[in-house]
Amino acid sequence: MSGQIKGEKVYRGIAVSAGVCRGKVVVLHHARHAIVRRELAPDAVPQEIKRFEHALVRTRQQITEVQRRVADTMSSSEADIFDAHLLMLEDRVLIEEVIKIIHEQKCNADYAFHTASNRYIAVLETVEDEYLRERAADLRDLTTRVLDNLLDVKQLLDLRHLTEPCILVGHDLSPSTTAQLDRNFVLGFATEVGGKTSHTAILARSLDIPAVVGAQNISEELETGDYALLDGYNGTVIVNPTDQTMFEYGQLAKIKASLGEKLREIQSQPAVTLDGKSIHLSANIEDQFDVEAVLKHGAEGVGLFRTEFLFINREKLPTEEEQYLVYRQVAAMLKPQSVIIRTLDLGGDKFSSQLQLAQEMNPFLGWRAIRFCLAQPEVFRAQIRAILRASADGCVKMMYPMISGVDELNQANAHVEKCKAELRAEKIPFDEKLEIGAMIEIPSAALVADALAKRVNFFSIGSNDLIQYTLAADRTNEKVSHLYEPTHPSILRLIKMTVDAAHARGIWAGVCGEIAGDPVLAPLLIGLGVDELSAAPSAIDSVKYIIRRLKNEEVRQLADFALQCESPTEIFARCQAFAYQTAPSLFENKA
Ligand code: PEP
Ligand code: MG
Repeated sequence: MSGQIKGEKVYRGIAVSAGVCRGKVVVLHHARHAIVRRELAPDAVPQEIKRFEHALVRTRQQITEVQRRVADTMSSSEADIFDAHLLMLEDRVLIEEVIKIIHEQKCNADYAFHTASNRYIAVLETVEDEYLRERAADLRDLTTRVLDNLLDVKQLLDLRHLTEPCILVGHDLSPSTTAQLDRNFVLGFATEVGGKTSHTAILARSLDIPAVVGAQNISEELETGDYALLDGYNGTVIVNPTDQTMFEYGQLAKIKASLGEKLREIQSQPAVTLDGKSIHLSANIEDQFDVEAVLKHGAEGVGLFRTEFLFINREKLPTEEEQYLVYRQVAAMLKPQSVIIRTLDLGGDKFSSQLQLAQEMNPFLGWRAIRFCLAQPEVFRAQIRAILRASADGCVKMMYPMISGVDELNQANAHVEKCKAELRAEKIPFDEKLEIGAMIEIPSAALVADALAKRVNFFSIGSNDLIQYTLAADRTNEKVSHLYEPTHPSILRLIKMTVDAAHARGIWAGVCGEIAGDPVLAPLLIGLGVDELSAAPSAIDSVKYIIRRLKNEEVRQLADFALQCESPTEIFARCQAFAYQTAPSLFENKA
């Protein structure tokens, strides 16, 4: 035990991905720079310039070291990327400019360097030449490294170089970093910020990695090398667990093992209620590698393929051909079941390093999803063509994220029609009857669902966003997580409106947000008339388990109660009591 914490200590947060793990902690230090301008005494200037030069030398050593490691473990072309960084580091024009600012303004080196490099980055970002524009990303990376050294921020741990299994602890973990986690080395993770439906949490569930978010002060108080137990059922991290705690968790493991057996037995059974109502239970995936888990858990195809993860953590945008191969592979693996491919939903908390979108004040209200695609027709076109082409090889459907009204939907449909016409002219096969859906995740869309229903073949309710936009509670912010209430009457009314509007036009409505995978809330959704539920593969078994114990009449009564009740807490309590009574073994989580 190396840490400063003596004896057992419990950190409480929000449980976002089920499971228990124990092991050594690795603390991630986050390199956030607070750049403030400091006035220097004239005689302190030479020393400040030396400090700057020293940071450049240290940065050079570090880059050379990383380059050597990358060359050993990856291809030499990946290592070559660092040549550009080294060249920039020696750029006399930039260095002289920084020195000039320090001299003339008598200010600190970090402020001077930040100012000069940002000026360069801004210029590079606006040039026509694509190669030069890409150098802006290199310079941003390099700037971070130099500032790390100037401000003495510890280097971010490179997660690709973990050598033994551990529990990661950090202030925050971005979705793009989470997508790269290696299950063989990351037993679980805990962060100080985040929400249950942030994409980081969604990825943790998809990777089946136990996770806790919103655990205050954990990254400051824990040290690498501490020993902890992380409980992703109850949202706790227990440092230095006592023998008694370990014993209690041993008992919990036994209960979970016996539940696991029961759940495995129904994996090949249909999701049908006791009185014969079938629910289409499908799965959410982030890439082609998740399909194996979809098949294992016996989901009926894929109800949401979040394609944006093909676009992040990479140097270049995926081409039409590359996307086509992935979509076709997924469609072929799932055949005869269907896959609903969602068009690109970048923005919000998911960003592509390649696209370098400008920072926005309110990214979730900004240039995201369909808004971005309609403004970038070439990116949209490549994806639509890839999806259409893949539809020749399986049962493929397509849906648009973040539709706010009829105009956007008409525009998106027009793009699809144009792509279809192109493919016909090129004699490239696709499914002429490919179904198209709209996600209902903005309140305005739910309110005009009757008009939208005339223009699509199905609706998929994105409750993660619908809740945040309706209740004005950021889904990634633990400070407002108490306001993020799925059972708020406004949410239930919007869901009911959407379902009714769909049924009135003879089309189906599903839910693909996280509530679809929650056995406490799934019965209510079925009672509200939802036809399809799409959840993380790891959530499929327990949702199916409870569906197979439901009676249609009972869930309708539950929905009737919820629709006339004014209190979110009361509705949730009723759902909880109903679920506990219907499927008690699903809820034995307390150690
Ligand atoms: C949703 O918003 O509910 C949804 C399924 O989309 P995402 O979580 O990817 O925003
Ligand atoms: Mg969404």
